[in-house]
Formats: sequence, C-alpha cells, structure tokens
Amino acid sequence: MAKKTIMQTVQGDTQSRHVLGLSGGKDSAALAIYIKDRYPDIHKRVEYFFSDTGAELKEVYDFLDKLEAYLGKEITKLSSGKPFEHWLKIQNQYLPSAKQRWCTRVMKIKPFEEFVGDDPVITYIGIRADENREGYISHKANIKAVFPFIYDGLVRDDIFNILEDSVGIPEYYKWRSRSGCYFCFFQRQDEWLGLKRNHPELFEKAKAFEQQVRKKYDWKDGEVDVGGHGYTWSSQGTVDELVAKAEKREKERGIVASTETLPERWQDILRVAEDDDPEDQACLICSL
Ligand code: SF4
Repeated sequence: MAKKTIMQTVQGDTQSRHVLGLSGGKDSAALAIYIKDRYPDIHKRVEYFFSDTGAELKEVYDFLDKLEAYLGKEITKLSSGKPFEHWLKIQNQYLPSAKQRWCTRVMKIKPFEEFVGDDPVITYIGIRADENREGYISHKANIKAVFPFIYDGLVRDDIFNILEDSVGIPEYYKWRSRSGCYFCFFQRQDEWLGLKRNHPELFEKAKAFEQQVRKKYDWKDGEVDVGGHGYTWSSQGTVDELVAKAEKREKERGIVASTETLPERWQDILRVAEDDDPEDQACLICSL
C-alpha cells in the first residue's frame, strides 16, 4: 500500500482542531483558498482566524471581507481586548522593535494561544517551497504546525495565480510589502513614505508615538517628565527622517512614485519584485 502523504495524514486527523491564521497578507490568503479547493475535507473542518491588533490598515479588513465571502466561512477575529496604546503604557512607552517584539507576543500570539487553549491543534502555515523562513510562531506543545505549500511544492508564482484567479491581491501591496500594523517597525523607508502618501492620518499617528514625552514615577511628585521624547520606530531615525531619505532617493532616481502612471499592471510588477527578504523575520502571524 502506498505511503500516505503528510497532507493525507493531517486530513485524517479528526481528533485535533484544525486552524489557519490569516494575516491579511498574500500567502496565508492563498493557503486558505488552496485548502478550500484542494482539500475540501480540511476546509470543512478548519477554523479561520485573524489576530486583530486594532492597528491594521483599512485595506486589510476589506481584503478579509472579500476572502470571507470567497471561503464561505467566517474568519474569527481574535483580539488582546485592549488597544495598542494600553499595552504601550504597560511597557513604559517603550515602542516595540525587532529585538523587543512585545507587540506580537501580546497582541497576536497570546490571543491565538487563548483561542486554541490546551486542545490538540494543527495549524496551517503558508510558507512556500521556494523560501527559507522560520518566522515567529507559537511553540506550545499542543500546537503542531504543517506547511502544505512546502509539502506540495508551491512557489511564489503559484501563490499569485491562486489569488488572481480568486480574490485578487490586497491593494496595499501597491506600496507596502507586508500586512500588519500601520506603524510596524519592519517597514522599509519607502514603505513609510507609502504610508504617508496613502494614509497621512495614520502616518501622523505613528509619528505622534515617537513624540510622546517620556515620564517616570517619582515617589514624591508622582508622574514627572524625564526630559526628551520617547523612542523612534526605527534605529535609523524618526519616521520623518526615513521619509526624507526615501524621497531623496526617489528624486535621485528620477522616479515619482505614483499608482496612476505605472507602465504595467502593478500586480505584474509585484509578481517579479523581490519582496521576500530572507533576513526578514517579521512574525509569520503578522505578515505571512
Ligand atoms: S505587525 Fe509589526 S507592529 Fe504589528 S504586531 Fe506584528 S511586528 Fe508588531
């Protein structure tokens, strides 16, 4: 008798809960569609979820609505129950960073772990066969990660084909290479510029976090100013400085970023663009 493939084994597991986290990004969305079309038995059983930080772009919610309609199943919205500002206060106004990624732990991973509890769980992850990422996923013993794209050999082009034949590519990919919070510190300089152009009010909000006056608690005087401003989202400078650098580069190259004057469809440009930086360890739950 032929040996069962990993996906056949997983499909036959009726004892575990099956979950698939959608980040609002292209790979997890393509995975959900792939599961629906290729493994309908898993699709029937799988619980789709989205860990909502409350700081996502409107485009992400629009895309999730589309996806929900296509999948014909509800996408459960998980939440830490409090806004980012609350957690920031608890962290003493210390902005999260790649090294201190408390945001993911508190606002994404913890709600996910509470959602699955102690049940045996199979979680489907959209890492592709042509990439080498580890990312940041839960390491609880009852949670077993499976990688259908890797087992079935799907690469970047396949992901674009799946999306173009179904729900399309999320709109924010025109100017941003990942989903996640509008202030995410993993953004590159030109993505901060994209945020400023596409969502000026969110850019101003991100900037305001950097300008917060730092305080400390004094036993005699209560809360007192420490002097100086808070932290920056990037070690390379304030968001204004990052945007200025991106604009300068744009001018030097003679390029004015515009979504209207693109010579080809932006989807085609994206298809061949290098957006999968192997050094990029943005959390999978946020951006995959
Ligand atoms: S998207 Fe970025 S800022 Fe938001 S939780 Fe993930 S790592 Fe943190």
